[in-house]
Amino acid sequence: MREVLLVRFGEVHLKGANRPYFLRMLTDNVRHCVEDLGARVWFSDSRIYVAEVEDIAEAAERVRKVFGVYSVSPALETAKEFEEISAAALRLMEGKTGTFKVFARRSDKSFPISSNDMAAELGHRILVAYKGLRVDVHKPEIKLHVEVRERNAYLCSEEIMGVGGMPIGTGGRAALLLSGGIDSPVAGYSIMRRGVKIEAIHFESPPYTGERAKEKVLALAKKLGAFQGGMRVCVVPFTKIQLEIHDKCPEELGTVLMRRFMMRIAERLANQLKAQALVTGENIGQVASQTMDAIVCTDMVVGMPVFRPLIGFDKIDIIREAEKIDTYETSILPYEDCCTVFTPRHPNTRPKPKMLEKAEELLDVAALEDEAVAGTRMVEV
Ligand code: ATP
Ligand code: MG
Repeated sequence: MREVLLVRFGEVHLKGANRPYFLRMLTDNVRHCVEDLGARVWFSDSRIYVAEVEDIAEAAERVRKVFGVYSVSPALETAKEFEEISAAALRLMEGKTGTFKVFARRSDKSFPISSNDMAAELGHRILVAYKGLRVDVHKPEIKLHVEVRERNAYLCSEEIMGVGGMPIGTGGRAALLLSGGIDSPVAGYSIMRRGVKIEAIHFESPPYTGERAKEKVLALAKKLGAFQGGMRVCVVPFTKIQLEIHDKCPEELGTVLMRRFMMRIAERLANQLKAQALVTGENIGQVASQTMDAIVCTDMVVGMPVFRPLIGFDKIDIIREAEKIDTYETSILPYEDCCTVFTPRHPNTRPKPKMLEKAEELLDVAALEDEAVAGTRMVEV
């Protein structure tokens, strides 16, 4: 008898001819997240198994967060031998109180005891052994599942829900514009959850933004990276562009001009990163640079699709998500962002492409972008 983890997957079931590919990715991703625990991970009859770990609770907590995992159950694996199954059942139910029901199944029909007989006999033995337990066949508090499969039997009484989604790597690659704010980490997470591998791009403006502001962004990237086995972060020097905009262009267009630079530079870096799309935390109406007109003017400077998964969310819902993925506390640390440092007093909330193009003629856009791209440093977290 030994402890194992049963891992169930959700939507991956639906993928038809691609199913083997999705399952291989998912199995690899599960293996990757527990390999430092010495675990053995394998796929067999429509489930993933994790065994040979000392700390099964830690393994469960990690595997639960792998995208594509529907749920996990700490379980006992036994030989296909009734006395051993019975001993495992008693071990699982030890110390528990309340109502229970045994659900027995055998996919191996040559196993000599029928499912009904097995459930009845195990139920009886549990009742005799533990005074605090009663049977309730309609609404049991504890469901003890016993499955006799091809090679072994498995027993479990607990199901821990996973994060769902699709396995990382099955959805291609995208580049996330990652600020230190609340929104962009949540935006990145929602895309990652659909199986897309994310790399990050961050614009910094030293000395107006400090070292601690950058450390905060790297901390956020690290938290997100934990869901996909690390992340690359491109840190782009943005000070010169911001100063040029500030000195030479109409103040009220400053923010949107800056955002157009960000998008164009991000697209070039995304190509280098072999990413096919950009992701931002933009959200209609939240701030001056995110009115419909501003987003139209920002969007039109790049050819790549720009995904904005939070576009229609309320702030309160975004905050709730940020808390759930544990980025909120980091995001609200009070360090400056390059956007806030140069915020115009009266931003134009209805900019038009012509105005912006005219303003950009006052700058050497290509040279500024080349310099920013050349000065970009890549950090792995
Ligand atoms: P966030 O909470 O993500 O910072 P926000 O509500 O503060 O978003 P803005 O500051 O207008 O909104 O930024 C909109 C989006 O632009 C961000 O969600 C992010 O994707 C991107 N962005 C803003 N600042 C930066 C930056 N310094 N580096 C990289 N991306 C940025
Ligand atoms: Mg911001």
